[in-house]
Amino acid sequence: MTKPAKLAALRIARSLSLFRAVSNSRWRRERLAILCYHGVSIEDEHEWDPRFYVSPAILEQRFHVLLESGYHVLPLGEGVRRLREGSLPPRSVALTFDDGCYDFYRQAFPLLEKYKLPATVYLTTFYCFHRKPVFDMFCHYLMWKGRHSFAGGRLSGVDHTPELSSERGRRRASESVIRSAETQAMSLAARDALAEELARQLGLDYQEVVSKRILQLMTVDEVKRISEAGIDIQLHTHRHRTPKDRGLFCREIEDNRRAICEMTGASGRETVHFCYPDGVYDREFLPWLEQQGIVSATTCESGLASRQDHPLLLPRIVDTSGQTPVEFESWISGVSALAPRVSNGRRRA
Ligand SMILES: [Zn+2]
Repeated sequence: MTKPAKLAALRIARSLSLFRAVSNSRWRRERLAILCYHGVSIEDEHEWDPRFYVSPAILEQRFHVLLESGYHVLPLGEGVRRLREGSLPPRSVALTFDDGCYDFYRQAFPLLEKYKLPATVYLTTFYCFHRKPVFDMFCHYLMWKGRHSFAGGRLSGVDHTPELSSERGRRRASESVIRSAETQAMSLAARDALAEELARQLGLDYQEVVSKRILQLMTVDEVKRISEAGIDIQLHTHRHRTPKDRGLFCREIEDNRRAICEMTGASGRETVHFCYPDGVYDREFLPWLEQQGIVSATTCESGLASRQDHPLLLPRIVDTSGQTPVEFESWISGVSALAPRVSNGRRRA
């Protein structure tokens, strides 16, 4: 189905009160909608990558929908526990934010406070101690940011003539820089210097971009402050990776947990919810997570979490800038989660 046809069908479904009927159904009551956000733009990040960023205006509009339509926004831990017990309230939702970049502190946190909504931040901790942008993501952002100001010529770390007018060309150039830094096993300082040089070659003011703290993690003090204000801080690995080696995988969780506990004063028993970096998971990880005392883990696969899901493979609803209000409502009501089941059923039939 094309996007306009899908949107038209959803609008008709909503006008026929189908959204309300599904959201009030017993089927929906047995499910938890875990919403997933990555970044909330400080400046123009949602224009750069609408799949990973929403503007603060969109986030606030989503909160309005949740509150006006009577959704129960629960803390993640309570939601997961009550899902297991079968005691969820109607239309239950949990809010999660991945990574813990400064934009959460600056943009999402004030809105959560304003509407008194509970939320979980899955925090990756390595860059919390380093006040520079996350190198890989920053390379992608710089190529986009400098697409008009770049006067042509060579770019440091790029092994070909860069072509920045297309998304494909920009990605090829940034991946070449990232590969070059990895091949040379560059230190953090060398990566920062390379990013600075790239910004200059692209015709950008590096200090100005860095001063906005785009793609930088929250500092230790900021994490402490949001934790004291009631934001739940949970696990996302220390270095944002899931090595397929048991020892290295467990070390990622242990380092991440230790850093979170130091920053927030939480105990290890309180940091028991995990989110797979980049949504990448493997069944091999499940016993390792259990051994680490993890009680829930979320993926980036679309769906409402139910008791039939493995607690370490809970789906979420990844909200993006490209999602219209009616699509958002179709997800939280349960209509979109039901739709594929109908078509699968038909196929089987
Ligand atoms: Zn992440």
